[in-house]
Amino acid sequence: MSFNLDINIMKGETNMALIKCAFCKGTGKDPFNLLSKLATCQVCGGKGKVEVKEPMIKCVYCKGTGVYPHNGRVTCTVCNGKGSVTVKGETEKCPDCNGTGVAPDSLPCLTCRGKGVVPIVITENE
Ligand SMILES: [Zn+2]
Ligand SMILES: [Zn+2]
Ligand SMILES: [Zn+2]
Repeated sequence: MSFNLDINIMKGETNMALIKCAFCKGTGKDPFNLLSKLATCQVCGGKGKVEVKEPMIKCVYCKGTGVYPHNGRVTCTVCNGKGSVTVKGETEKCPDCNGTGVAPDSLPCLTCRGKGVVPIVITENE
């Protein structure tokens, strides 16, 4: 029996997941042909796959596309073009952007840094 998993468990304590590069949709080519038609994707270096630390969620700021939503030719500044972002521990919806990751000025929300979620802060009020 063999499994063809997309997830690689790397050495050490951090689990890295190998996912399809969102920016080039796994083609390994620059999706916007900024340099030339044969230019490699700047996010994955032409491999078509990128590593993201686990646990991760889909980047809400670019909706998982890896493309910066307000200038459709550069990488998303939140996920660096990967389409997924790492979250730490338990999270809840960001109260400032209501989970959208977008601030009123359409830049990434400063509270959650565009992730749409913030770590749950455990307050010890009794
Ligand atoms: Zn790529
Ligand atoms: Zn993104
Ligand atoms: Zn936010």
